[in-house]
Amino acid sequence: MAESVELPGRLGILPFRNKVLLPGAIIRIRCTSPSSVKLVEQELWQREEKGLIGILPVRDAAETAAAAVVPMVSQGVGSDSGERSTRVQVGTSDSQRLDVKNQQENIQWHPRGVAARALHLSRGVEKPSGRVTYTVILEGLCRFSVQELSTRGTYYTARISPLEMTKTEMEQVEQDPDFITLSRQFKATAMELISVLEQKQKTGGRTKVLLETVPVHKLADIFVASFEISFEEQLSMLDSVDLKVRLSKATEIVDRHLQSIRVAEKITQKVEGQLSKSQKEFLLRQQMRAIKEELGDNDDDEDDVAALERKMQSAGMPSNIWKHAQRELRRLKKMQPQQPGYNSSRVYLELLADLPWQNTSEELELDLKAAKEQLDSDHYGLVKVKQRIIEYLAVRKLKPDARGPVLCFVGPPGVGKTSLASSIAAALGRKFVRISLGGVKDEADIRGHRRTYIGSMPGRLIEGLKRVAVCNPVMLLDEIDKTGVDVRGDPASALLEVLDPEQNRTFNDHYLNVPFDLSKVVFVATANRVQPIPPPLLDRMEVIELPGYTPEEKLKIAMRHLIPRVLDQHGLSSEFLQIPEDMVKLVIQRYTREAGVRNLERNLAALARAAAVRVAEQEQAVPLSKDVHQLGSPLLENRLADADGGEVEMEVIPMSVNNHEISNTFRIASPLVVDEAMLEKVLGPPRFDDRETAERVASPGVSVGLVWTTFGGEVQFVEATAMVGNGELHLTGQLGDVIKESAQIALTWVRARAADLNLAASEDINILEGRDIHIHFPAGAVPKDGPSAGVTLVTALVSLFSQRRVRADTAMTGEITLRGLVLPVGGVKDKILAAHRYGIKRVILPERNLKDLVEVPAAVLANLEVLLAKRMEDVLEQAFEGGCPWRQGSKL
Ligand code: ADP
Repeated sequence: MAESVELPGRLGILPFRNKVLLPGAIIRIRCTSPSSVKLVEQELWQREEKGLIGILPVRDAAETAAAAVVPMVSQGVGSDSGERSTRVQVGTSDSQRLDVKNQQENIQWHPRGVAARALHLSRGVEKPSGRVTYTVILEGLCRFSVQELSTRGTYYTARISPLEMTKTEMEQVEQDPDFITLSRQFKATAMELISVLEQKQKTGGRTKVLLETVPVHKLADIFVASFEISFEEQLSMLDSVDLKVRLSKATEIVDRHLQSIRVAEKITQKVEGQLSKSQKEFLLRQQMRAIKEELGDNDDDEDDVAALERKMQSAGMPSNIWKHAQRELRRLKKMQPQQPGYNSSRVYLELLADLPWQNTSEELELDLKAAKEQLDSDHYGLVKVKQRIIEYLAVRKLKPDARGPVLCFVGPPGVGKTSLASSIAAALGRKFVRISLGGVKDEADIRGHRRTYIGSMPGRLIEGLKRVAVCNPVMLLDEIDKTGVDVRGDPASALLEVLDPEQNRTFNDHYLNVPFDLSKVVFVATANRVQPIPPPLLDRMEVIELPGYTPEEKLKIAMRHLIPRVLDQHGLSSEFLQIPEDMVKLVIQRYTREAGVRNLERNLAALARAAAVRVAEQEQAVPLSKDVHQLGSPLLENRLADADGGEVEMEVIPMSVNNHEISNTFRIASPLVVDEAMLEKVLGPPRFDDRETAERVASPGVSVGLVWTTFGGEVQFVEATAMVGNGELHLTGQLGDVIKESAQIALTWVRARAADLNLAASEDINILEGRDIHIHFPAGAVPKDGPSAGVTLVTALVSLFSQRRVRADTAMTGEITLRGLVLPVGGVKDKILAAHRYGIKRVILPERNLKDLVEVPAAVLANLEVLLAKRMEDVLEQAFEGGCPWRQGSKL
């Protein structure tokens, strides 16, 4: 055994660190250190033909390749090379180690190793520094023991003697009964292991073949090499030169492996049995996830959570909120998707991630001139309102964080409140978001529900901010006067916090549960009326009134703004549809009677729809007569020219050939012009006309008042009638307390002055004797209240008792006292505009309302006669044809 022989292998592998190569196993080594590269190049690469044996440890940086690789050099060749070789004494006993003095370190080599054959050698790409690496795949062949270790240059060579048995030795051992028993035992255990593995992985076929063909002592090495066993065990396997020892060791290791598989299987079965249904689902889901991942199909929950986390990271949350969000995210990660609370937690985190904590729309340098142009191009008239908006913008420009009041546009519907607010946003270059507060009675609508509630949500403000996705939008609080108070709290007080610059830095939405900074939001509010707005809220706002438009203004708005917009919205242009000014006037007079222009816009849209249908129809079927006319004639001319006076032939031209051209020509040739007939056809018979007032006041007991509602000023008729009874007063028509009192006062005043008014022959006579009075305010669906109907009530009663009709062209407004004084009222401008819309020519106003007339457009005043009254008698004097019917000379 001591002699050295030439081996088929070319490298010797010594156990090193935690790696042992056993015969039959395959190992892959990367040679990166200069010495190992040298080894490969000198011993393996270039000297292939020589069958050298040399030993050199490969000291790679990589731990994985930490086996010592030594080339096998046949005896004598090492010294032939002429290189300086350091002789190292090597002990033969197992306990001895080889001591090699390296420059820096003292490596202890195991005295046995395995000869290996290179199966594959590849050279790595040369680094810019000129360094080369090799990867060698080696197969272990047989054990050897090191006789002498020496260095050659930077690497080692060794004189070795193989520990392979000779053929005769082998035959001897095979006769040994112990060996036979041991090998049978080993084969049986190995077989068992293979069948267990076969059941699990269905790959046993090849291994079984191995078992039958390979000699048993080699099998022992091959089996052991395929298990993960400790370094010590591997070493002792390498040292088991004796076949019987080797076999019994291998049997033991294989058996242990077999047992451990069995135990693992048992545990799995037991655990699986205990798995509840949901756990099973979880397992299946995990598997599904793995499958999806394999398929690259990554839209499952975990990825969602990862995506959510990413979104949260980029949301720019302040640090304290980020901490809070992370806590919540950790909780979410621990939950399973089917667990209650998972979804609500996720929706909450989504909201946190979506909210614009820092995201702002880039604010343009505010250009007041451009802002003015923007306002002018969007809105006709409204000079004062626009002026006030420009002032507001100017202050913002000079002091961007100015805590100016919140603008509140007050006026009837359709006067442009919302569109003015959106123009402000456009002028500031900010996004616009509208929050509707109409009908909000629950504080939670503003502030959100706590997350403990089922179906809890954030409030409308936070929701709006999420929608608009920037933290500095212009936010319109629409219909702020329509919020109400009930048992569910007071939305107005929550709004107070929102609008208070001191408090809105840390606005606390109950759902969000962390403060959100609203201070960058520009708030604008709208309302129909000022009165219902709670005073503290009103205090924070600057009211800008938009009283409604005169018919002339409406006409201009329609011609300049509404018609172009409506046409555009319907895909039309003036080439298709023309609505002449006269027709717009008719629409204003006959089909709308509103303060704003919303119905007008709707009616114009109806006309545009009708036109769109016609145009669309025409595109499909061009009238035949036109077709023939346009295309037929040149053809006919050609035929006539060719035919020498012969019979004229007609040719049929397929429609599709020139269809487009035809319809184009047709369109341009005749745009649809709206006329009265079309108005009636599309919009129906006129809804309003000027005769209405005359018809309604045709009988005594009816008078025309002017009132103020959420829709702006309105003409309100008051009807009074008498019947047999015993002096009672009946009132109907959805009336509030104030108006009921006014009716009482009016009746008292008339009764007290019945004789003076010529309603009774003498002062002792009770004009209510034997009769009841019923006063009705038509349009019963609209709630009415307020003192301004006082004069109208008296006039109706006087008309009833005197049986004289009031003038149909006269409307009135004013509060009366018991003594007959006429007190001023509000909403004069709206009321006069309403009278104007109704075609009324004379308006009786309290004298003290004279100052309000400056607000009324001059064009309206020019068409109206305004009569001022100080006392009730002045009103009556003007209300009846030919003056008041009171007794001449009497003093009222
Ligand atoms: P509000 O909010 O007061 O109810 P909107 O702002 O919705 O009314 O206005 C209704 C429509 O009338 C909008 O299309 C608006 O552009 C238009 N409008 C109102 N006033 C004017 C005006 N002065 N000039 C041009 N268009 C107007």
